[in-house]
Amino acid sequence: MEKGLLVVISGPSGAGKGTIYRNIIARTGMKRSISVTTRKPRPGEQEGVDYYFRSEEEYQHMIAAGEFLETAEVYKNYYGTPKAPVFENLDNGHDVLFEVDVHGARSIKKKYPEAVAVFIMTPDFKTLEERLVGRGTESESALNTRLGAAKRELSKYELFDYIVFNDDAEAATQQVLDIISAEKCRIKNNLTVIKNLLN
Ligand code: 5GP
Repeated sequence: MEKGLLVVISGPSGAGKGTIYRNIIARTGMKRSISVTTRKPRPGEQEGVDYYFRSEEEYQHMIAAGEFLETAEVYKNYYGTPKAPVFENLDNGHDVLFEVDVHGARSIKKKYPEAVAVFIMTPDFKTLEERLVGRGTESESALNTRLGAAKRELSKYELFDYIVFNDDAEAATQQVLDIISAEKCRIKNNLTVIKNLLN
């Protein structure tokens, strides 16, 4: 059996990666990785569905116990990916989809270079600002912080294998699905099957 594919979706807040991520999870059999965070839940967010919400003290214990594949501080809160479920899924041939910030994408690529990293970006920064304002969940200073961060994040483009410009969520979702299909067809991701056929 081939190992599963690890796909990382990243990009600035407001670029629409969350929507694309949810679309792909709903339409494929890909496994999601549920992150742990010290951020407070937003209205409607559920424990164990959107995140595992933990206190800072509990989070520090998890770091000390080596439970994370990567962990990052994003806007004064911690976010991390629990390690064990990811490798279990990959070893069992399941594809795994991540949605993380750009630091998280870099850590994952470092620890697991086979990961396929996709940067989701709006067509321009004006659109990004409009989407963040429209979301209405950020204070003005948080909004400015996120806009400033977006440019720095895009400047890390070399970390990524692909970029998808999200003008329309449906079209962008389809592009990410196409990327995943192509990656699944790579020779290096089919060596076990090919060798079995040749035997
Ligand atoms: P939000 O607070 O809006 O849910 O997420 C803030 C940022 O944290 C987003 O850019 C999101 O992708 C990122 N994030 C969510 N989970 C993780 C994680 O497990 N690791 C890292 N490094 N970033 C994450």
